[in-house]
Amino acid sequence: MKRCTASLIGFVFIALALASVFSAQEYVSLVKRALDDSSFHWRSFEAEDVRLFYKPDSFAERHRVMLVRSAKASVEEVLKFLGEPGYDRILHVFYVDTRKEMDRIIGRPVAGYADWTGSGVFLVLNPEWRSFDTHEITHVLSMSLWGTPDPTSRWMVEGVAVSCDGWCQEYSVDEIASYLLSQDQLPPLHELFRNFAELGEIRAGFYAASVIGFVRNRYGPDALRDLWMNGSGDLSGSLGSTIDEIEASWKKYLKETAGNEIQIDLENIEELECG
Ligand SMILES: [Zn+2]
Repeated sequence: MKRCTASLIGFVFIALALASVFSAQEYVSLVKRALDDSSFHWRSFEAEDVRLFYKPDSFAERHRVMLVRSAKASVEEVLKFLGEPGYDRILHVFYVDTRKEMDRIIGRPVAGYADWTGSGVFLVLNPEWRSFDTHEITHVLSMSLWGTPDPTSRWMVEGVAVSCDGWCQEYSVDEIASYLLSQDQLPPLHELFRNFAELGEIRAGFYAASVIGFVRNRYGPDALRDLWMNGSGDLSGSLGSTIDEIEASWKKYLKETAGNEIQIDLENIEELECG
């Protein structure tokens, strides 16, 4: 999650920068660039609208049937979370063994990456590292179906992906948020909205994800989409409550879903991330 957060923010910037420099015709997606790179000797496997790409004799190749089923299940799960009926593009799912190989494709040694323009995700997967399929697929679907969020709802981009993925190591999103809250590590909600980038990836990611899960649970996916598109400046429009009321309701919900007894080794999460 940690690497991925940085990669996401980076990609938003890169995509916007490229869009302003090149016309749509000249822009080459990372999916196309990866497919054009013959040094990977990609093999592929597909089921309906999901197409996997992996290297010969890789861990991913050996598990391709399970992986394609898992990717399809992720698409369904994410669509349900977003309240959307479908995604009408082919989804390209690339697996590599190492971050070094990701560096060759993306330009940085990240664990996961989403290229929604090209409808593709790039994932590190090996016997010691679980891939963030659902997380990255959420980025592709949310950005493709809902568009770029209102500037006041940029905090939601990573939060929706973390919320859909749902867990980190053996902990649920709400358990981590509850622990952070119990340690006085979460500022008031308005600070998350305005300064999410300054909270750090762990605090901002799990705080946002937990609040998004609460909003989805209490108000439904339409309210979530409304918040994404129309902004977080005035919650009374989207949610019919003030920001202080939402924060109080979320804290109550968190106590019910996660309790406040759990102990979490945050240093371990910082060091080993969520893989
Ligand atoms: Zn992400």
